Amino acid sequence: MSKVICIDPGHGGIDPGGGSNKHFKEKDMVLKISLEQKRHFERNGIKVVMTRTNDEYLDSIPRTNRVKTSGAKYCISNHLNAGGGEGAETIYSIHASSTIATGVLNALVAQGAKKRRVFNRRGTNGDWYYMHRMTGSVSTVIVEYGFADNSNDTDKVLNDWKRYAEAVAKYYIEHVFKQKYIPEKGGVQVANDKGPETLNLPQWQKSEMAKVYKLARGKGVFSSEEHEKNVLAGDMPIDQAIFLMTAIAGAALNGGKRVQ
Ligand SMILES: [Zn+2]
Repeated sequence: MSKVICIDPGHGGIDPGGGSNKHFKEKDMVLKISLEQKRHFERNGIKVVMTRTNDEYLDSIPRTNRVKTSGAKYCISNHLNAGGGEGAETIYSIHASSTIATGVLNALVAQGAKKRRVFNRRGTNGDWYYMHRMTGSVSTVIVEYGFADNSNDTDKVLNDWKRYAEAVAKYYIEHVFKQKYIPEKGGVQVANDKGPETLNLPQWQKSEMAKVYKLARGKGVFSSEEHEKNVLAGDMPIDQAIFLMTAIAGAALNGGKRVQ
């Protein structure tokens, strides 16, 4: 199986992006970050498909079509924020677990970014974000590196955009593609992140949890025994456990039917 990732530099062309200021336009900064990530993925043997590689304007339809036809299972959509906040945030699909989005944010925080939040947002017609709503089965994480109208964030983005870019690529290479990250000779050394925090429970509690997952599987909430195995092996991330318990609670409210 060849490993491939899609990278989406937000905005472009006539759309500069809201995360712009007197130092940079969002469309330019996110393109620089994206091309830097591409370099690190390719150095590590992972194929990259970009939605754009220059200052091209892309509407939601061609943009998401490029994601869907990329052959990638994962997509990173790079953005900068504006609107009076501070810090980095990552956004995952309403149909996904928050594991990757959490790991990406933690990786940025390890490079000095201020932690804002990991979230998702439901709209009236599915996911609020078209990068989630219109990208089919591709697992997309929207990464907002900081606020262009916040001076701390702006300084960090200007000084550390390369470090941020590499930290995100490194996270995917290690924790999503599960291969050893090869740092660049003479390149910036990004700090190691711990990856998602796993449940630190005594074995009897893991066994009890596995029974709950098994019961839920028997009622059709989960389709495989993967969750039982993961919790028993002690490598279930905390946020995945929270997501699963929410799914079970949702199914219970739904009369034992699988939550779509
Ligand atoms: Zn944006």
